[in-house]
Amino acid sequence: MTKAAMITICGRPNVGKSTLTNALVGEKVAIVSPKPQTTRNRITAIVQRGETQFVLLDTPGIHKPRTKLGSYMVSVVNESVADVDCVVMMVEPVASIGAQEQALLDRLRETESPAVLVINKIDSVEKSRLLEVIAVYSAAYDFDAVIPVSAKTGDGLELLMDELEKYAVEGPHFFPDDMMTDQPERQICAELVREKLLRCLDKEIPHGTAVEVTKFSERENGVVDIDVTIYCEKESHKGMIIGKHGSMLKKIGELAREDIESFLGAKVFLQTWVKVRENWRDSAAQLRNFGYEDR
Ligand code: GDP
Ligand code: MG
Repeated sequence: MTKAAMITICGRPNVGKSTLTNALVGEKVAIVSPKPQTTRNRITAIVQRGETQFVLLDTPGIHKPRTKLGSYMVSVVNESVADVDCVVMMVEPVASIGAQEQALLDRLRETESPAVLVINKIDSVEKSRLLEVIAVYSAAYDFDAVIPVSAKTGDGLELLMDELEKYAVEGPHFFPDDMMTDQPERQICAELVREKLLRCLDKEIPHGTAVEVTKFSERENGVVDIDVTIYCEKESHKGMIIGKHGSMLKKIGELAREDIESFLGAKVFLQTWVKVRENWRDSAAQLRNFGYEDR
C-alpha cells in the first residue's frame, strides 16, 4: 500500500532548511522548484522513501493550508484534499528561544498539525550543550518528537525520516514516482486543466489533448497570471473544446481556476487558448515539451 505525507519545514533564515531539503532529496532528486514569492503552498521537493512519498512544502509561517491538491496522475480524476500532515520546526543548537522561534511556537499552538522539533547543526556543538537546547524547547512546547540532526553531515537524517514516516497516510502518491521536473507548480496547473477537459468533454477528445502552461508569473500583489494552451488533434475538436460562443472553454477555465487558486493559495488570473497540433502524440520531442516523460 502506498503512502504519502505533506510536510512543512519552517524556521528562521539560515537555520538550514534548504540544506536539509537537499540532503533528504539526495540523489533521488525529483523536484526542487524555483521560488515564486507569494504563493502560499510552495512545493520545494518530493522525497521518495520506500512506499512513501513525502511532499515538502515551504509555507511562509505556519498555517494550516486546506490544500486541494489535484492528483497529478492522469488516470486519477478524483481530487484529494490534503492538509499538512506534520510541521517540522527547525532551530539552531542554541539554548534560548529567539523572537522568531517564539513567533513560530505561538503559531504552532494555533494549528492542529503534529509538530516535530529538529535541532540542526549538531556537528558544531558539544553534546552537553545540546541537552540544554532540548530542555529549553521541550519546556516551551509539547513536540511530538525532538530530533537533533546535522543537515550538513547527514547525522540524524535517517531518524528524522523514520519519525516523519509515522505521519504518512495510506493513499496514492501525489506525483508519479519518476516525475522529473523543476516546475511542479506549472505541471500541476496543466494537469488541473486537463482534469477539467476530461470531466467536461467526450472521452475521445481529452485523450487527444495536451496542456501546456506558457506563462506563470506573480504580480507584486500576489495575483498569479497563468496562460494555458490546450493542444488538440483536429479542427473539429477545437470547436468542441471552445463550445458555442466560447461557453465550454469558459466553463473549463472557471473550474480549473478555482482548483488552481486553492492549490496555490493565491488569486489566479487564468487565460486559455486552444490550438490544433496534429499527431502530437507521435512525437517524443513534443511529448517532452509537454512535460510527459518516456516511460
Ligand atoms: P535556510 O536559510 O534555512 O535555507 O538555510 P541554508 O540551508 O541556506 O543554510 C544556511 C547556512 O547554514 C549555510 O551556510 C549552510 O552550509 C549552513 N548549515 C546548514 N546546515 C548545517 C549543519 O548541519 N551544520 C553546519 N555546521 N552548518 C550548516
Ligand atoms: Mg533556504
